[in-house]
Amino acid sequence: MDNSLGLYIHIPFCTSKCDYCNFYSIMPNGRIISDYIKAVCTEITFYKGINKTIDTIYFGGGTPNILNFKDFARILETIRKVFKVSSQAEITIEMNPNLVTNENMQDFRFLGINRASLGVQSFKDGDLAFLRREHNVSEAKEAITKIKTVCQNISIDFIIGLPGQTAEQYEEAAILAQNYGVKHISGYLLKVENGTKFYNKQTLAKLPNDEETANLYECFVDKMNKYGYNQYEISNFAKASYESVHNLKYWECKEYIGIGPSAHSYFKGTRYYVSNDIYSYLKNMQQANQRLKFKKGALPPHLQTREKTFSIFNDSQIYYTEPCDLFSERVMLGLRLNKGVLLKELQEIDGDEYGKFLERLQSNKELDKFLIKNNDRVSLSTRGMLISNYIIATLLY
Ligand code: SF4
Repeated sequence: MDNSLGLYIHIPFCTSKCDYCNFYSIMPNGRIISDYIKAVCTEITFYKGINKTIDTIYFGGGTPNILNFKDFARILETIRKVFKVSSQAEITIEMNPNLVTNENMQDFRFLGINRASLGVQSFKDGDLAFLRREHNVSEAKEAITKIKTVCQNISIDFIIGLPGQTAEQYEEAAILAQNYGVKHISGYLLKVENGTKFYNKQTLAKLPNDEETANLYECFVDKMNKYGYNQYEISNFAKASYESVHNLKYWECKEYIGIGPSAHSYFKGTRYYVSNDIYSYLKNMQQANQRLKFKKGALPPHLQTREKTFSIFNDSQIYYTEPCDLFSERVMLGLRLNKGVLLKELQEIDGDEYGKFLERLQSNKELDKFLIKNNDRVSLSTRGMLISNYIIATLLY
């Protein structure tokens, strides 16, 4: 039985808000960061007694490298007190290039952080200005150089589908990344969500249309693969053996716990997340700290029973998905991966559902050009990845 567990810590702070951003983050002021660190440590402590070994820790955001050495040290110390942490654990920090310094890199090395995920987004200054990022290309390159002095496992984020992007630019980006020793690239299609500053007619009119975006995505995949960044998931590409162990947990239906507002968890067959409101979160954690006498070996209160004799979160702040439909989840998440889903495994999960799935798979000829079928597996083609939601829905319902 897999006894490993991933831990995600959300750091919801940024020094400014990028125009396209839809993540939960605020600009910190006063004592909010120190209050937040305390609250995060409180929430982590509620998991004491769980007999699992942490093999991945992921600080995501927001901008985690806004925190200082003491903040990280306190969180990591709490994690190590509460959980058994594997000596081989992958420990990632998402970073923004403008906040990377030689000093904090030394701190990170001291703390055992061994993977950096840097928000580069583009190797073109015009793109970065369009996105209203706080850094430019030369700062991104400098940041990679600084990170490399302490950590070789570097990932960069890249945005696909910006105005005027070309296949040549993607090729240049792959070559640059390779020359800088980058081991992993996440390439995200620009998605403009309602509620962001980008969501207005002028900006939307500048963006490539659906067909152009699809072509750009195909070019991106092609260029990444050409330079040895092998695609292993819809948006993720890695040199051999540098796939993100933490992120693979999401797609392989392995357990992980998310800490902080807006962080999602999948634990003991339940998916749940806390609402994205840091002020309610801080209040909850302060009250919980006073109210709870933690019993060793107990599950966190919000997982004990649905009756909830008491809960560390108010009901309005924690959201559950009822026990997972494992078959659907395996299909939905597994098809995001290039290796796809193993048919035998689906059959073992639910023979009846598998029968219906297989029938749809074989009878729906329209899907053939979007799928790769081997004897024992099915996966999405590159075009299929672009319409994965439609294909998954057709195969499941
Ligand atoms: S740095 Fe990242 S999380 Fe922060 S505002 Fe920009 S895109 Fe959003």
